[in-house]
Amino acid sequence: MLLNIGSVAFDDIETPYGRAEKVIGGAAVYISWAASYYTQQIQISAIVGDDWPVEEIRKMEARGVDTEGLQIVKDGKSFFWAGKYSENLNERETLITDLNVLDDFDPTLPEGYKYADFVMLGNLTPEIQLNVIRQMEKRPSLIAMDTMNFWMDVAWDSLLLTIKEVDLLVINDEEARQLSGEYSLRKAARTILNLGPKYLVVKKGEHGALLFHEDDVFFAAALPLHEVVDPTGAGDTFAGGMMGYLDMTKDISYDNLKRALIHGSIMASFCVEAFSLDKLQNITAAELEARKNEFKGLMHVEI
Ligand code: AMP
Repeated sequence: MLLNIGSVAFDDIETPYGRAEKVIGGAAVYISWAASYYTQQIQISAIVGDDWPVEEIRKMEARGVDTEGLQIVKDGKSFFWAGKYSENLNERETLITDLNVLDDFDPTLPEGYKYADFVMLGNLTPEIQLNVIRQMEKRPSLIAMDTMNFWMDVAWDSLLLTIKEVDLLVINDEEARQLSGEYSLRKAARTILNLGPKYLVVKKGEHGALLFHEDDVFFAAALPLHEVVDPTGAGDTFAGGMMGYLDMTKDISYDNLKRALIHGSIMASFCVEAFSLDKLQNITAAELEARKNEFKGLMHVEI
């Protein structure tokens, strides 16, 4: 069972390829969809207004997502985010963040959520993330957490308290540098692993991701695509694919974490091919198999 928490949102997105207005998004939505290609045992704890399409909730349920923990606020407005990408898609500017119902999010886990084996804490305030950990009745096999530089600026102490409680931290290279005060990612990883987590994943966007464990490091490439249309949600999708794979295999060894990273990269490669969840919701078994083979070709060589 994979429990995930995060935002459920409407997004406005502008990229060099065009714009999409009031499309569905949110970390918990990307995580759930990506994980659903590996496990049908997913629970979502999140908040949304009743302006968010009911058919999208039904579609997640049809993929094995238990939505008992998705709080729907009557007459409430859903979280809204607007962002604009640079020409090369490597930089993104946040234009609007309207928290709306997310401002009052104080998750109370349904009884059945308190025994999940795997927990993915999407990017939210560290207090909410810690609150979820504290509600678990049984220590999960693995708790993963995403965060961002904003929380390093405004909630340093509670961020460190939360990081101490998790097994895996998933952040990007800039965030790893800010969190550790080290430029070398090798040194940054040592500092961060000393804060508590057993594993650290450092995402490097189109340049793949690194997995750190003790003194070891592993690299998972991102697939060079012919066309990237919309990078929104790639990080959450990566985390969802990775955690879905771990829930499917129930193996938290370093070797299996390496495989999980590659499955995260596979899911992220689909996510960025279309706006919003347009591709992520429509991956066929044949496409998934073909993409796995592309990754094998990309990464495998005797040296
Ligand atoms: P990513 O591109 O992986 O960072 O994820 C983007 C998604 O996260 C979008 O669908 C947004 O709705 C959502 N998002 C953006 N900013 C925030 C925030 N401050 N808190 C929670 N979710 C957010």
